[in-house]
Amino acid sequence: ISVWSAVPQGPPDPILGVTEAFKADPNPRKINLGVGAYRDENGKPYILPSVSTAEASFVGEADKEYLPITGLASFTSAAAKLAYGSDSAPLSQGAVAVTQSISGTGALRIGGAFLARFYPTSKVIYLPTPSWGNHTPIFRDSGLEVKQYRYFDKSTVGLDWAGMLADIRAMPQGSIVLLHACAHNPTGVDPTQEQWKELSNIVKEGKLFPFFDMAYQGFASGDIARDAFAPRHFVSEGHQIALCQSFAKNMGLYGERVGLFSLVTSDKEEKARVESQLKILIRPLYSNPPVHGARIAGSILNDPALYKQWEGEVKGMANRIISMRTTLYDLLTSTHKTPGDWAHIKSQIGMFSFTGLTQPQTEALASKRSVYMTKDGRISMAGLNGGNVEYFAESVDGAVK
Ligand code: PMP
Repeated sequence: ISVWSAVPQGPPDPILGVTEAFKADPNPRKINLGVGAYRDENGKPYILPSVSTAEASFVGEADKEYLPITGLASFTSAAAKLAYGSDSAPLSQGAVAVTQSISGTGALRIGGAFLARFYPTSKVIYLPTPSWGNHTPIFRDSGLEVKQYRYFDKSTVGLDWAGMLADIRAMPQGSIVLLHACAHNPTGVDPTQEQWKELSNIVKEGKLFPFFDMAYQGFASGDIARDAFAPRHFVSEGHQIALCQSFAKNMGLYGERVGLFSLVTSDKEEKARVESQLKILIRPLYSNPPVHGARIAGSILNDPALYKQWEGEVKGMANRIISMRTTLYDLLTSTHKTPGDWAHIKSQIGMFSFTGLTQPQTEALASKRSVYMTKDGRISMAGLNGGNVEYFAESVDGAVK
């Protein structure tokens, strides 16, 4: 008998399962809207030209030595500046503790583990309902207890602002609250800037700890500063935030695993203590982060010409997605006169759209039309392009009528 005979079969990942079904489908018109990765107008993965240029500048020349535990300093300082803004007070005071991370997932996991170990007031983190599916297991495995606050209103396919406020006000003092900085995944629904200002006040009143996940900076609106409004506003209001960054989407560095975790501290001396503990936490996990992607991102962020080029490429990705939203909306409302209100297709932000399609409708779309998405009706807008959006709209129209 094997030592592993009692290991139970676990369920497949809900998102990767969609890709498997898609791959097995022989229909040439099939569409995969499950995966959260950018695709160009031909439906192909996109290597940003700025990334290729940055990579070519060092490939074959840079050594493969270990990085320090907290990563490549020229990358981490530039990445922090990108998030907090070059005029950030705690940044210029040397009061932001930073470490490179294994993309956004790794940043969240380091942050969860650091708070579990050192945050004095609470071990409970509140997530929006719904949230990215990986948030719950990440925080649970890092030693925090996970609870929920209301976020999305199914009836309006929009923000449940009243429910969100009520739930955040009701959190025990000192609780940790997770906030998606922009382009909320999976709903595509974000608070407005006015609502963020009110949230900052309420978080302050409740002495809550704001923990930001920013996986889509620049990718949402096409504007780096605009997408960072929420964390920058919180910092300017005196909050000591935690921040997780990912360069998967905005640089297309998915598999390179480039990210950053940072904490705002009160001064240089406190930052040094916090960073020493981040090192103690990271060393037994993976010793030090991967070097290649950090070199690429660092080269782009530190070279003014390349940075400018990259900004244009980020805008290009964001704008292509935004134009697909308009095209899809027009096809549904004007061409097909599909029943229902589809305004949310245009108003939602970022890579994803919560279509409002029901589970039976998503199942019918997969089996009858070879159109694949997650069961909750979430589509990745990046999977649509000039060549398939008409087929998609016609399919949705058929599923709804
Ligand atoms: N947070 C959110 C909300 C996400 O959508 C993602 C990517 N799907 C991540 C974090 C982290 O992704 P990665 O680890 O690839 O950076």
